[in-house]
Amino acid sequence: VAKRQGRALDTYCLSMREEVRQRHKMQQDLAEAIKQEQITMAYQPIWDNHSGQIAKLEALVRWHHPHWGQVSPAEFIPLAEETGLIQRLGALVLWQSCRDLSRLQKSGFPHIQMSINRSTMEFQTIDTSASEWLQVIHHFDLNPADIVIEITESLLMESNAQHKSRIEALRDAGCKIAIDDFGTGYSALNYLRNFPVDLVKIDRSFVRHIPFNEQDRLLLDGIINIVHNLGMQVVIEGVENHEQLDFLCQKGCAFTQGYLLSRPLAYDDLIDYLALNQQG
Ligand code: C2E
Ligand code: CA
Ligand code: CA
Ligand code: CA
Repeated sequence: VAKRQGRALDTYCLSMREEVRQRHKMQQDLAEAIKQEQITMAYQPIWDNHSGQIAKLEALVRWHHPHWGQVSPAEFIPLAEETGLIQRLGALVLWQSCRDLSRLQKSGFPHIQMSINRSTMEFQTIDTSASEWLQVIHHFDLNPADIVIEITESLLMESNAQHKSRIEALRDAGCKIAIDDFGTGYSALNYLRNFPVDLVKIDRSFVRHIPFNEQDRLLLDGIINIVHNLGMQVVIEGVENHEQLDFLCQKGCAFTQGYLLSRPLAYDDLIDYLALNQQG
């Protein structure tokens, strides 16, 4: 038995070593990808159900590697955070998203807004007045009110005074703040009391089983009411079928996003898509 266990341990250590080696390789590749700008953006439409128009786009980072293929941001964002590459990656994301919003607005879609993800780590590394980010927004001649910054509850959870002043600086400049993945963290309602946010994005796990699961239906209905009563907008993520969309429209939820409506699109595809689906 001991011998068998020993062999199992050897295999385990080997695969651990292999994993470490692969991670190290991926880190180097990511650094290279950032330098060579192999990083691109995809944009997923967020619909306004009342007007039937696309109101916003969520900017989602993409990395296509010649050997690894398409690497998920859920995999390389944490890697970038561990290795300190997140600053350069985040700068690239902001730059491309603002550049693309600017040319999009000039191509006949002046009312579309851009929603940009910022991890907690990215917030730690900017100056408290968020001036680096605001400079990029101004560089592309954008109205800060057309930029939404998506943050997660973990940023608010730290109740750090510097985080708060960064959020306030962005808001003072006119940017909108959204809480992403709402409902997946702890004591979420408390943040709504203490932090000035404009938008709440409800995590797709709350939508998955509606309208068939009564408990989920009541919960979602309650959350939507609370957020609306606080004067904030609600975006529901992960809408994948018509039953879900119908339920949400009935509840007066204005903004929806998900595969049913559109997958994230590369810029050129987005332009074609908007030409077909948007009145300008
Ligand atoms: P997220 O911010 O919650 O983004 C939504 C994710 O759900 C995206 O995955 C999107 O493609 C996916 N999605 C959209 N509609 C549906 C749907 O109907 N069903 C399902 N099952 N999924 C849907 P993606 O692009 O793989 O991004 C994963 C996560 O990586 C994001 O989650 C976000 O936390 C992070 N991320 C992506 N881009 C960036 C970025 O530029 N900066 C930072 N800091 N994080 C990013
Ligand atoms: Ca997001
Ligand atoms: Ca989300
Ligand atoms: Ca997320």
